Amino acid sequence: MRLARSPSVATRSQGPLPASSFVRVNLGSIARRFLGTRPTSLAQHHQQYSILEQEDGGRNVFFPPPPPRPTEHKPGTCDTEIWSDLKDDRRRIYCNRSLNMTSIRAVGFDMDYTLAQYKPETFEALAYRLTTEKLVRVFGYPSEVMDLEFDWKYMIRGLTIDKKRGNVLKLDRHKYVKIAYHGFRKLTTDERRHYHTTERTNPFDEPRTYTQIDTLFALAEAYMFIQLVDMKDSASGGLLVGKTYEEIYGDIRNSIDLCHRDGSLKRGVAADPAKYIHEDKNLVPLLKDLKFSGKKLFIVTNSLWDYTNIVMNFLIGGRMGSDKNLDWLEHFEVVVTGSAKPRFFNENQPLFQVETQSGALLNTDEGNPMANLDDHNDELDPVPAGKVFQGGNYKILNRMLNLTSDANSEILYVGDHIYGDILKSKKTLGWRTMLIVPEMEHEIEVMNRNIGMPKQLFHMRRRRDALEDQLQRVRWKIAERDGGLTQFPEEDKENMESEMAILNEEYEELREEHSRHLAEFQGKFHTIWGQFMKTGYQNSRFANQIGRFACLYTSHVGNLAYYSPNKSYRALQDELPHDALL
Ligand SMILES: [Mg+2]
Repeated sequence: MRLARSPSVATRSQGPLPASSFVRVNLGSIARRFLGTRPTSLAQHHQQYSILEQEDGGRNVFFPPPPPRPTEHKPGTCDTEIWSDLKDDRRRIYCNRSLNMTSIRAVGFDMDYTLAQYKPETFEALAYRLTTEKLVRVFGYPSEVMDLEFDWKYMIRGLTIDKKRGNVLKLDRHKYVKIAYHGFRKLTTDERRHYHTTERTNPFDEPRTYTQIDTLFALAEAYMFIQLVDMKDSASGGLLVGKTYEEIYGDIRNSIDLCHRDGSLKRGVAADPAKYIHEDKNLVPLLKDLKFSGKKLFIVTNSLWDYTNIVMNFLIGGRMGSDKNLDWLEHFEVVVTGSAKPRFFNENQPLFQVETQSGALLNTDEGNPMANLDDHNDELDPVPAGKVFQGGNYKILNRMLNLTSDANSEILYVGDHIYGDILKSKKTLGWRTMLIVPEMEHEIEVMNRNIGMPKQLFHMRRRRDALEDQLQRVRWKIAERDGGLTQFPEEDKENMESEMAILNEEYEELREEHSRHLAEFQGKFHTIWGQFMKTGYQNSRFANQIGRFACLYTSHVGNLAYYSPNKSYRALQDELPHDALL
């Protein structure tokens, strides 16, 4: 039985924009731009991803597999064709703040959804199923909750959950609510406006009311929340009728925490990593290249050692079960597990050395080994000593990497969590940052398929604005006439009325056409939430955070393999609106 319905969300299909309003697109030049001088391989890559695009618009390619190997080059040797002229926009590393990799002495990685790209259709579905089980068996929710179905494509990162009202919001960079749903019901413009009349002093950062979907792990809980909101509102939810939306959200969070604590999620992944995590053939070569260029590599992950060892064994060497070993550690100087980011970046947490065979934690004196009173315990033999830790903070890490605190700008940290990985490390420490944004792949795919459409929509907007200005002028003249401020000839008075009627009709037609095409364009990205990085003409709140806190951003960590480890990344020129005149 499916209780929480997915509403009909298909955007109105009105066909393509009229040819007259389009700038002609040279398909040959676009093809050349994509295919460059190596049409065969890149065309194959393009085809590989294109077949994932479906007719119904945008809810498709959010979590693509790792990029294909750029070339079978040996570590430390340069493939000039790849490194000098990258043809595929999806493989690009985009730069907000210039960064010369030759000045980087250490590169650190988060693990989950950074080094390890999960398959949401299986991994998030597993988390979703285990969470519904906990809701029913531990928190007493009606058994129907276990019959709910998970649509992993419904939610996107960057949304804001209003826990008190049962709403999910998409904000623009000014924190203006542009799209909002209560359960599966889209809020009206007036309902959205309510936020701006009541919440102007509350910029959606108040944690008791709002929470951000800023990690891919949160997509399942956000979807479950609106399903349960829908169930509560329908009055068929039994226990849910007596619960507030806020309590429902809290129960979901507690159920997820239970899944992590009792190990049920980890056991599922450990049993079959290949089912839940993408293999990544770029990973080992790019780690070797970075190391060969003189950089020290490290991992700082919130996952604990046992799970980290399972995931990294699979990613580096494809090892599972009893085949696991510690060979993968040779790629890294230091591995910090259970780091409790973002506290790792600004709090003094105790650091423990992890005994890699048993998982036991050994006390350390800020990373230095302490005398073991049990000298006769031969079973505890750390391999390799002093490389794997739990907890601690960035200061101890710096010392272990032989970097002083004023060398923070010589550390590049790669992560997927805008708050936990990127914002704190950049704002607090001044680390250079690179954000992994898997959604970029689909975003770029749709943009490339619709080259020219934003410009056409912009011209429609300009025409609409010009008509509106003309309308204002005629309205003003009529007001002057009626108010007796200005005397007009009788003939002009009649013309004003007819001119007003014609302009009104033209304006309404254009407004309807523009709105329809804008919705159609946004629906190509995602039929519920539109373009990930935009809300209308403004950057989305998430895109704004990327611009402020990520020095670099890209769709996948494997894209580093397409660039020299000593690449000097250059930011584009900043622009204000008047720069568009150039
Ligand atoms: Mg992560």
